[in-house]
Amino acid sequence: MSRTSDLILRNGIALTGEELKAEPFGSLVVRAGVITELTADQVSADGTPEVELNGAVVLPGLIDCHVHFDLAAHAAPYLHWERTPFVRSMTCFHNGLLALRAGITSVRDLGSADRMTLHYAAEVNSGELPGPRVVAAGRPITMTGGHCADYGRIADGPDEVRLAVREQLAAGAGVVKLMATGGISTPGNPGVPQLGIPELAAGIEEAHKAGVLVAAHAHAPQGITNAIAAGVDTIEHAAFADDDNHKQMIDAGVTLVPTVTALNPIAAGIGIPAATVAKSLKAREVYRASTAKAIAAGVRIAAGTDAGTALNPIGGLLDELTMYAERGMTATEALRAATVTAGTLVRRADEDAPIGILVVGARADLVIAEQDPRQDLEILRRPAGVVTGGRLVDLGWVERTLTEIEPVLAEARA
Ligand SMILES: [Zn+2]
Repeated sequence: MSRTSDLILRNGIALTGEELKAEPFGSLVVRAGVITELTADQVSADGTPEVELNGAVVLPGLIDCHVHFDLAAHAAPYLHWERTPFVRSMTCFHNGLLALRAGITSVRDLGSADRMTLHYAAEVNSGELPGPRVVAAGRPITMTGGHCADYGRIADGPDEVRLAVREQLAAGAGVVKLMATGGISTPGNPGVPQLGIPELAAGIEEAHKAGVLVAAHAHAPQGITNAIAAGVDTIEHAAFADDDNHKQMIDAGVTLVPTVTALNPIAAGIGIPAATVAKSLKAREVYRASTAKAIAAGVRIAAGTDAGTALNPIGGLLDELTMYAERGMTATEALRAATVTAGTLVRRADEDAPIGILVVGARADLVIAEQDPRQDLEILRRPAGVVTGGRLVDLGWVERTLTEIEPVLAEARA
């Protein structure tokens, strides 16, 4: 793994700015992890590492706005939280490599049973450990009997939610996760509202005071309406959202993170409790249709997969983007959902450089593709190169390490 964060890419085509506009360049210069120059000229290297691209395409690194690195995509995913800290931290490391291999350079981790992902985030964000940049929520905040109550931080009433949010912020959370409805992967009805407006509003006020954004898990209309009324920043999933919800999102400037591919493997059913499969099959068609409606309505969408949950391993972001493209987005719009739009959700209050956008002054998180992914997203299935914070990732090393640690992890998890 390269330790330097200075780099010059030579002779490629950059997909730049908000619109991902193609711009041929002679030199893309990175200094201290930030893009400092994009020019037709051949800038003198003067000892800086160089990579010849021979006309390859460079775009912002992909961002998955909804993952769980502290899960292992097993059929009964939450049992992972009963495992030893050693196995769980190895799993985070493994998931980080899976993300890098898929061209994912930033993630929002929306929930763990304790501080595991906050510790992991501290290591990768400081450059000590190879992996994507991580903005983590710590523990999700839920009501008594609510979604993920077995492992989340239970809080009832505005004061307790306020305290629960403060706890996550004090532990280093870069995003806050609140449960506004039931869930599909846990017992109970995903349609029922859970934390109410006063509770959500108290939590959101605390997070916003610290410059931290808030994500609400919300599937059904009333819970979505509550979360938006309380001032949330992103709605996660929204499987059963109605037209009014989409209008509310647009009016309030709320971003939707659909995670629509998460249900595909659950509905396939291998090794998953029958009740969850039935619930997922029923939900899947509605979910796909509501995502298509959100796209048609012009809701601001950022890409997320809920990876880590049942049979939904880290790295499936391309399938999510393909889903958006099949439901009304152009390939460019799908790429924007995983770059420029997603980038606004993963930037922390203490960071100056924009993320998820290829412009001078932005953080140098990049993906290199042999052809233009705006013509065919599939080219990103295996990126030709990945740069995180100006460091060129050794994808060969990533591949070899994955091959070596996977049998060990399988043994340790058994
Ligand atoms: Zn999730």
